[in-house]
Amino acid sequence: MQSKTLTTSNVQDTIKLGEQLGIMCRGGEVFELISDLGGGKTAFVRGLSKGLGTEDEVSSPSFTINNTYKGSRFNLEHFDFYRLDDPGVIAEELKEDIYDTNSIVAVEWGDIVHDILPEDRIMVKIITDENDNRNFTFNFPSSYDYLFTEI
Ligand code: ADP
Ligand code: MG
Repeated sequence: MQSKTLTTSNVQDTIKLGEQLGIMCRGGEVFELISDLGGGKTAFVRGLSKGLGTEDEVSSPSFTINNTYKGSRFNLEHFDFYRLDDPGVIAEELKEDIYDTNSIVAVEWGDIVHDILPEDRIMVKIITDENDNRNFTFNFPSSYDYLFTEI
Protein backbone atom coordinates (compact mmCIF):
# COMPACT_ATOMS: atom_id res chain seq x y z
CA MET A 1 0.00 0.00 0.00
CA GLN A 2 1.19 3.48 -0.88
CA SER A 3 0.25 6.56 1.06
CA LYS A 4 0.23 10.24 0.19
CA THR A 5 -0.95 13.17 2.30
CA LEU A 6 -1.84 16.63 1.04
CA THR A 7 -3.59 19.62 2.59
CA THR A 8 -6.04 22.00 0.96
CA SER A 9 -7.03 25.26 2.59
CA ASN A 10 -10.08 26.08 0.50
CA VAL A 11 -12.69 24.38 -1.64
CA GLN A 12 -11.08 25.55 -4.90
CA ASP A 13 -7.86 23.73 -3.98
CA THR A 14 -9.83 20.59 -3.22
CA ILE A 15 -11.52 20.79 -6.62
CA LYS A 16 -8.12 21.35 -8.22
CA LEU A 17 -6.73 18.29 -6.45
CA GLY A 18 -9.61 16.15 -7.70
CA GLU A 19 -9.13 17.57 -11.18
CA GLN A 20 -5.42 16.69 -11.23
CA LEU A 21 -6.27 13.09 -10.36
CA GLY A 22 -9.12 12.99 -12.87
CA ILE A 23 -6.75 14.05 -15.63
CA MET A 24 -4.46 11.12 -14.79
CA CYS A 25 -7.23 8.49 -14.83
CA ARG A 26 -6.89 5.66 -17.33
CA GLY A 27 -10.31 4.10 -16.83
CA GLY A 28 -11.58 1.66 -14.23
CA GLU A 29 -10.35 3.57 -11.16
CA VAL A 30 -12.43 3.26 -8.00
CA PHE A 31 -12.23 6.02 -5.37
CA GLU A 32 -13.67 5.56 -1.91
CA LEU A 33 -14.17 8.86 -0.09
CA ILE A 34 -14.16 8.87 3.68
CA SER A 35 -14.91 11.89 5.88
CA ASP A 36 -17.48 13.45 8.14
CA LEU A 37 -20.36 15.36 6.64
CA GLY A 38 -19.00 18.55 5.04
CA GLY A 39 -15.50 17.11 4.81
CA GLY A 40 -15.21 17.85 1.10
CA LYS A 41 -15.97 14.49 -0.51
CA THR A 42 -18.40 15.93 -3.03
CA ALA A 43 -16.10 18.88 -3.72
CA PHE A 44 -13.32 16.41 -4.54
CA VAL A 45 -15.67 14.48 -6.86
CA ARG A 46 -16.53 17.77 -8.57
CA GLY A 47 -12.83 18.13 -9.35
CA LEU A 48 -12.54 14.55 -10.54
CA SER A 49 -15.39 15.11 -12.95
CA LYS A 50 -13.74 18.29 -14.22
CA GLY A 51 -10.54 16.38 -14.85
CA LEU A 52 -12.50 13.78 -16.79
CA GLY A 53 -13.90 16.50 -18.99
CA THR A 54 -17.53 16.40 -17.93
CA GLU A 55 -19.66 19.43 -18.53
CA ASP A 56 -22.33 18.24 -16.08
CA GLU A 57 -22.74 19.89 -12.71
CA VAL A 58 -21.90 17.49 -9.87
CA SER A 59 -24.44 17.56 -7.09
CA SER A 60 -24.79 15.55 -3.91
CA PRO A 61 -26.48 12.40 -5.12
CA SER A 62 -28.14 11.78 -1.74
CA PHE A 63 -31.76 10.81 -2.44
CA THR A 64 -30.86 9.57 -5.90
CA ILE A 65 -27.85 7.54 -4.60
CA ASN A 66 -26.17 7.31 -8.00
CA ASN A 67 -25.44 9.85 -10.72
CA THR A 68 -23.62 9.42 -14.01
CA TYR A 69 -21.58 12.27 -15.51
CA LYS A 70 -20.55 11.89 -19.09
CA GLY A 71 -16.91 12.77 -19.62
CA SER A 72 -14.92 13.31 -22.78
CA ARG A 73 -12.82 10.22 -22.03
CA PHE A 74 -14.69 8.27 -19.34
CA ASN A 75 -17.95 8.47 -17.49
CA LEU A 76 -17.91 9.20 -13.82
CA GLU A 77 -20.24 7.10 -11.68
CA HIS A 78 -20.89 8.89 -8.40
CA PHE A 79 -22.51 6.99 -5.52
CA ASP A 80 -23.56 8.34 -2.13
CA PHE A 81 -24.92 5.86 0.38
CA TYR A 82 -25.45 8.41 3.16
CA ARG A 83 -27.93 7.09 5.72
CA LEU A 84 -28.88 4.15 3.56
CA ASP A 85 -29.31 0.87 5.42
CA ASP A 86 -29.58 -1.35 2.39
CA PRO A 87 -28.01 -0.63 -1.01
CA GLY A 88 -30.66 -2.82 -2.68
CA VAL A 89 -30.52 -2.84 -6.47
CA ILE A 90 -27.92 -0.06 -6.44
CA ALA A 91 -25.44 -2.71 -5.32
CA GLU A 92 -25.84 -4.39 -8.71
CA GLU A 93 -25.34 -1.08 -10.48
CA LEU A 94 -22.19 -0.47 -8.46
CA LYS A 95 -20.83 -3.95 -9.30
CA GLU A 96 -21.32 -3.31 -13.00
CA ASP A 97 -19.66 0.09 -12.84
CA ILE A 98 -16.68 -1.27 -10.91
CA TYR A 99 -15.90 -3.78 -13.63
CA ASP A 100 -16.45 -1.30 -16.44
CA THR A 101 -12.99 -0.15 -17.51
CA ASN A 102 -14.57 2.86 -19.24
CA SER A 103 -15.97 4.22 -16.01
CA ILE A 104 -14.46 5.94 -13.02
CA VAL A 105 -16.29 5.18 -9.78
CA ALA A 106 -16.45 7.51 -6.76
CA VAL A 107 -18.24 6.34 -3.61
CA GLU A 108 -19.25 8.40 -0.58
CA TRP A 109 -20.36 6.67 2.64
CA GLY A 110 -19.39 3.30 1.21
CA ASP A 111 -19.42 1.29 4.47
CA ILE A 112 -22.49 -0.70 3.49
CA VAL A 113 -20.91 -1.70 0.17
CA HIS A 114 -17.46 -2.59 1.50
CA ASP A 115 -17.98 -6.21 0.48
CA ILE A 116 -18.54 -5.03 -3.11
CA LEU A 117 -15.73 -2.49 -3.40
CA PRO A 118 -12.56 -3.94 -4.91
CA GLU A 119 -9.50 -4.28 -2.71
CA ASP A 120 -7.59 -2.37 -5.39
CA ARG A 121 -9.11 1.05 -4.89
CA ILE A 122 -7.97 4.53 -3.95
CA MET A 123 -9.04 5.30 -0.41
CA VAL A 124 -9.33 9.03 0.17
CA LYS A 125 -9.59 10.00 3.81
CA ILE A 126 -10.32 13.66 4.54
CA ILE A 127 -9.87 15.16 7.98
CA THR A 128 -10.84 18.74 8.78
CA ASP A 129 -8.37 20.42 11.11
CA GLU A 130 -8.95 23.21 13.63
CA ASN A 131 -8.24 25.86 10.95
CA ASP A 132 -10.81 24.37 8.56
CA ASN A 133 -8.07 22.98 6.31
CA ARG A 134 -8.65 19.55 4.81
CA ASN A 135 -5.97 16.92 5.22
CA PHE A 136 -6.23 14.36 2.45
CA THR A 137 -4.65 10.97 2.94
CA PHE A 138 -4.63 8.73 -0.10
CA ASN A 139 -4.02 5.01 0.41
CA PHE A 140 -3.68 2.97 -2.73
CA PRO A 141 -1.89 -0.04 -4.19
CA SER A 142 1.23 0.72 -6.24
CA SER A 143 -0.71 -0.16 -9.40
CA TYR A 144 -2.22 3.33 -8.98
CA ASP A 145 1.10 5.16 -8.66
CA TYR A 146 0.54 6.77 -12.07
CA LEU A 147 -2.28 8.89 -10.61
CA PHE A 148 0.04 10.61 -8.17
CA THR A 149 3.11 11.41 -10.25
CA GLU A 150 2.07 15.05 -10.79
CA ILE A 151 0.95 15.92 -7.29
P1 ADP B 1 -19.15 16.14 1.89
O1 ADP B 1 -19.50 15.62 0.53
O2 ADP B 1 -17.94 15.46 2.49
O3 ADP B 1 -20.30 16.12 2.84
P2 ADP B 1 -19.03 18.73 0.58
O4 ADP B 1 -17.97 18.68 -0.45
O5 ADP B 1 -20.44 18.60 0.15
O6 ADP B 1 -18.69 17.67 1.74
O7 ADP B 1 -18.91 20.08 1.38
C1 ADP B 1 -17.70 20.61 1.85
C2 ADP B 1 -17.98 21.99 2.44
O8 ADP B 1 -16.84 22.49 3.09
C3 ADP B 1 -18.34 22.99 1.36
O9 ADP B 1 -19.32 23.86 1.87
C4 ADP B 1 -17.03 23.73 1.13
O10 ADP B 1 -17.21 25.04 0.65
C5 ADP B 1 -16.42 23.74 2.51
N1 ADP B 1 -14.94 23.76 2.52
C6 ADP B 1 -14.17 24.63 3.19
N2 ADP B 1 -12.86 24.38 3.02
C7 ADP B 1 -12.79 23.32 2.18
C8 ADP B 1 -11.70 22.57 1.62
N3 ADP B 1 -10.42 22.85 1.87
N4 ADP B 1 -12.02 21.53 0.81
C9 ADP B 1 -13.30 21.21 0.58
N5 ADP B 1 -14.38 21.86 1.08
C10 ADP B 1 -14.12 22.92 1.88
MG1 MG C 1 -21.16 14.62 -0.18
